[in-house]
Amino acid sequence: MLVFKTKIDLQNHLLNNKSNKTSVGMVPTMGALHKGHISLVQKCVSENNITVVSIFVNPTQFDNSEDLKKYPSTLEEDISLLKQVSDKIIVFSPTASDIYDGNIISKTYNFKGLDKVMEGAFRDNHFNGVGTIVETLLTLVMPDNAYFGEKDYQQLAIIKNLIKTQNIPINIIGCPIVREANGLAMSSRNERLSATLRKEASFIYQTLMTAKKKFGTESALKIIEWVKSEFKNRNDLTLEYVQIANAETLQPVLRKQKNKKYRIFIAVYANDVRLIDNIPLN
Ligand code: AMP
Repeated sequence: MLVFKTKIDLQNHLLNNKSNKTSVGMVPTMGALHKGHISLVQKCVSENNITVVSIFVNPTQFDNSEDLKKYPSTLEEDISLLKQVSDKIIVFSPTASDIYDGNIISKTYNFKGLDKVMEGAFRDNHFNGVGTIVETLLTLVMPDNAYFGEKDYQQLAIIKNLIKTQNIPINIIGCPIVREANGLAMSSRNERLSATLRKEASFIYQTLMTAKKKFGTESALKIIEWVKSEFKNRNDLTLEYVQIANAETLQPVLRKQKNKKYRIFIAVYANDVRLIDNIPLN
């Protein structure tokens, strides 16, 4: 298993080992790996000759310094999990000053409104930070394929947009959400939940599934009000936002249209742990 800590070492290795015939896949992560990340890595390994997994907690995408401080860091465990998938995986785990060349700030992008709603509305500058690190990592490795989870559906849409507008010739591949047995979307943040809260948090997915059932017959507005009222009754879970949006533009839906795809998006605090989820509605 090769673990590189600097851009230059990674680049030199790829330069010496890549040829026109090798396909390279990349999975960017912030570590504390779980089965959700591993599903992306497995797909990447099965579809490419070389797989690069980056593990880097990107400071510029956190608007809350406490959240950044509390973000779990488990590099040794991550490496042993990746080894179980393949010992040929290349791990890239740089420091912030190496990856940012000492200038740890984000660029400013125009994501055409994709970044103004939901996560973008509640996390200041979040997607500029995401865009900066993803663009840096992808242009460094220049993979043929890069894998991202639908768990962060808005991020996936923004990265697809970024690749298109910056003319970066990489396939962006979206992968389905992996869930715990009770339906809770897997997340590195779940590690910070007590056993009880982890059980209780399955309420998020259950509510989304009921909303999906209602979507056939009820208006988006009515469903949103219903979800809000469901969370009003919970002491342990605090709703930050719930939104039904066009799956392509991510803009909130006021009136459903035929032939359009919709998804429901949610962010909830379980005590001080922020959880997000989304599912397709049609
Ligand atoms: P993160 O380490 O949270 O930045 O996630 C790295 C990648 O793994 C992102 O593309 C996420 O969308 C994806 N991911 C995280 N959790 C899951 C999950 N439960 N199912 C599928 N993909 C996931």
